[in-house]
Amino acid sequence: MINVAIDGPAGAGKSTISKGAAKKLGYIYVDTGALYRTVALCAARNSAVGDAAKIEKMLSKADIELKFDSAGTQRVYLNGEDVSDLIRTPEISMQASAVSQLVPVRKFLLGLQRNIAEKNNVIMDGRDIATVVLPGADVKIYLDASAECRAERRYRELVQKGEKVTFDEVLSDVNKRDHQDMTREIAPLKPATDSIIADTTGYNLDESIDMVVKIIKGKINAE
Ligand code: C5P
Repeated sequence: MINVAIDGPAGAGKSTISKGAAKKLGYIYVDTGALYRTVALCAARNSAVGDAAKIEKMLSKADIELKFDSAGTQRVYLNGEDVSDLIRTPEISMQASAVSQLVPVRKFLLGLQRNIAEKNNVIMDGRDIATVVLPGADVKIYLDASAECRAERRYRELVQKGEKVTFDEVLSDVNKRDHQDMTREIAPLKPATDSIIADTTGYNLDESIDMVVKIIKGKINAE
């Protein structure tokens, strides 16, 4: 199976670019952030936010599953309920970043992610895919862009969905979340030593997808 790991900070365009690249290559696109978001939603529903022991207990009873429809689109299920749309709020973003710092949460999600990569050609995106989840991935890419550029993309996405946010709030959230993700003790966000850094500042979506597809094809053809 071909495994492509794509990591990077919030709003670097990982999901949209990975989705587009996966479509061009005929691979499955796996968004691992959705798993951390689902754990956060579950914690919020169980009044367990900020309570590590309660979250660990909650996970022993939680069933989180990723499913892919015939077009390869990922949906995430929490105890049988499709929560794919509910997890896309700024609150859940921050809470996902908070729960992702807990060892039991990362352990709980590790097997699930590896299982999918074992059985499919995948582009998997997240924060620790190249460094922890798939250290043997065929291609490792670290997708980056300036904080302003990333906040601008996120801001447009949220406004389009009808969320009431300001650009400054989004920029501040992006910076806060990156700091949290990069400085945490366990599986911090950083490029692997053999990751290829792809900076998409100033590139539009099609150009960014082409850049990533080119890197993947170049690496796989060279193997
Ligand atoms: O990618 P997304 O913004 O949906 O991820 C939400 C949060 O989940 C991130 O801020 C990060 O803290 C966490 N995450 C992680 N490891 C991953 C994917 C996401 O820690 N592989």
